[in-house]
Amino acid sequence: MAKQIWHLEKHEDNTATLTINVPGQAQNTLGQAVLDGFCAQLDVLEKETPKALFIRSSKTSGFMAGADIDELSSADAEALKTLIDQGHKALKRLENLSCPTVAIIHGTCLGGGLEVALACDHRVADQTARFGFPEVQLGLHPGLGGTERFVALLEPATALQLMLTGKTIDARKARKLGLVRDAVPKRHLTAAAKAAAEAGKKTRKRGLFAELRHTVEISSPGKRFIANRARKETEKRFSKKHYPAPYALIDLFEEETGTDDALQKEARSFVALSQTQTAENLINLFLRREALKRDARRPKGHDIAHVHVIGAGTMGADIAMWTAMNGYTVTLQDIDNEVIAKAIGRAHKWMDGKPDHSDDIRDPEDRLIADPKGDGVRSADLIIEAGPEKAEIKQKIYDGFKDKLKSRAIIATNTSSIRLETLAKGLPKPNAGRFVGLHFFNPVTKMPLVEIVKGETTTKETLSRALAFVESIDKLPLPVKSAPGFLVNRILTPYLLEAVKLIDEGNSAEDVDAAAEAFGMQQGPVEVADTVGLDICLEVGRVLARDLDHINEPPQQLVEKVDAGDLGKKSGQGFYTWKDGEPQKEESQATDQQLESLQKRLLDPLLEEVRRVLDEGIVASEDHLDLGAVFGSGFAPFRGGPCTYMRQRKAPSSEETQDEPAEPSEA
Ligand code: NAD
Repeated sequence: MAKQIWHLEKHEDNTATLTINVPGQAQNTLGQAVLDGFCAQLDVLEKETPKALFIRSSKTSGFMAGADIDELSSADAEALKTLIDQGHKALKRLENLSCPTVAIIHGTCLGGGLEVALACDHRVADQTARFGFPEVQLGLHPGLGGTERFVALLEPATALQLMLTGKTIDARKARKLGLVRDAVPKRHLTAAAKAAAEAGKKTRKRGLFAELRHTVEISSPGKRFIANRARKETEKRFSKKHYPAPYALIDLFEEETGTDDALQKEARSFVALSQTQTAENLINLFLRREALKRDARRPKGHDIAHVHVIGAGTMGADIAMWTAMNGYTVTLQDIDNEVIAKAIGRAHKWMDGKPDHSDDIRDPEDRLIADPKGDGVRSADLIIEAGPEKAEIKQKIYDGFKDKLKSRAIIATNTSSIRLETLAKGLPKPNAGRFVGLHFFNPVTKMPLVEIVKGETTTKETLSRALAFVESIDKLPLPVKSAPGFLVNRILTPYLLEAVKLIDEGNSAEDVDAAAEAFGMQQGPVEVADTVGLDICLEVGRVLARDLDHINEPPQQLVEKVDAGDLGKKSGQGFYTWKDGEPQKEESQATDQQLESLQKRLLDPLLEEVRRVLDEGIVASEDHLDLGAVFGSGFAPFRGGPCTYMRQRKAPSSEETQDEPAEPSEA
């Protein structure tokens, strides 16, 4: 097994290349077998040290994607600590080889993979390379010396910031920050690696990483200053109780570095975090998200090349822009030429300077084409209609193009509330089979989820092509049944309307939002309602009340706000006054007890709706429901989604029973 993963090739000039290729995986991930194989190769390299060692991957996906999350999530604390200690030792051995070592990097170089690269003397990358430490998104921090070596190599505040956000950077940025020696086109990568090797070994004068330390040695007060600032920023986004990892990372950063003891502290902190419910829930979400994406990918790939978007308003403009950015030819149609021009101008501005990962030789700007007459329909493989939310208008749009379509073209609607069966009425039979809902969320660039709505007429083939397409544009495709509000609006609306009702009863918007945020929601419901638009909330609320007996008409205060033109963020006034895109909020003065009772009021209708949605089979499983709630509605990610939350609430961990305020009871 070990031999299959690592391959050592000796060259005539007495240099050697160690190539990784983990069998049966699209990406190289680090687990026990990879580490064992690596140690076996180090045994050889320490005995017969080459003039220089190059480390690379033969996978097209990239260098290494990080830890094997499956393995990591199933290991207990003791096994994990043993694995990490072994990893630390292996990377120290790599670092201490007497020859220069060069990581040759393309594609993904994340987490543990980046830590391997950091233990090399040099790193060179091609333009496809992407670097980062996504561990905080899993409730962890780097665990194989990354908290040490990354901070030692980069400007420390930048290194800390990158680890805290989990953001990835491209090769150009990595070169700028000093993470890689060279960022060159693929054809020059080998030459760049040789030049790096000729630059020699990075000598280590004192201590473990002393030489690697950034040229500006950072003083303790300097570090304390950076750490305190980072803590303050982190507090604004995450509570320590819900998200301990960023705080643990800052503590490590602030402590003494460059010693074996520091590595041990990193290992202990990593293992402790791995045992928290937060890490368990975030890792599970990650695994479920990956599984959903995997299911959506078609074995044969997919056959969509040209997408035609109708309606260049709020949604259509961004759907077109996002799709073009992800490698597709996109034609954009609207009845208003000025709207198209504005949409394309905005898209060009947004695309400017963003790395283009597609194989298309054209720039993303050239893939997005204004099409006022709708000529693109004839050659499109997928038509996405994002016209106004009125059944007659949408049906008229379909009527206008139904005779011009390619034989296998999919017709998709971005409707948020109209039944697919109503919209499909005018479509002739073969077209009706290729009719599907693609419900993107606003703002398209930020919201990861797209609901793939199967109507009564939608064929299986259409559904799977739609899933594969959405996955290919880097969105999470969630299959849902055609039903009022689909999944996300159905569970979100009762919660948002309850928030309005609470304001009606005399609570402040700030207190209501504070209660939800204390629970861990990414944004309070009042702020969400203002952001989505109160007119849209009212409309969705009315549709749900009309179609579902158990949902009441939206509260009067919402109707009055909309009648007065106070639509939220877009009009500058909703429940909050908005300035420069920010709600003007007072600090909540509510006591813990008040927040607790507000939480219960808010959550009960949401959880009740979750149970109904599951009973009605709107989504295939609790896993799907959790993913939809977290990635579509901003449900507290560290809680793993509403279903996970309800399960864990029934069997609270000792940690939760000690410090958590009582949670709302099940209705
Ligand atoms: P919008 O009003 O901003 O845009 C609609 C566009 O369609 C306008 O530019 C209009 O000129 C154009 N249009 C009207 N008639 C047309 C025709 N016959 N042919 C071509 N273009 C025509 O609306 P929006 O907010 O982008 O919503 C579009 C769809 O997306 C709706 O179905 C809505 O329910 C859904 N949706 C909206 C949001 C949101 O937050 N805005 C979120 C999810 C889904």
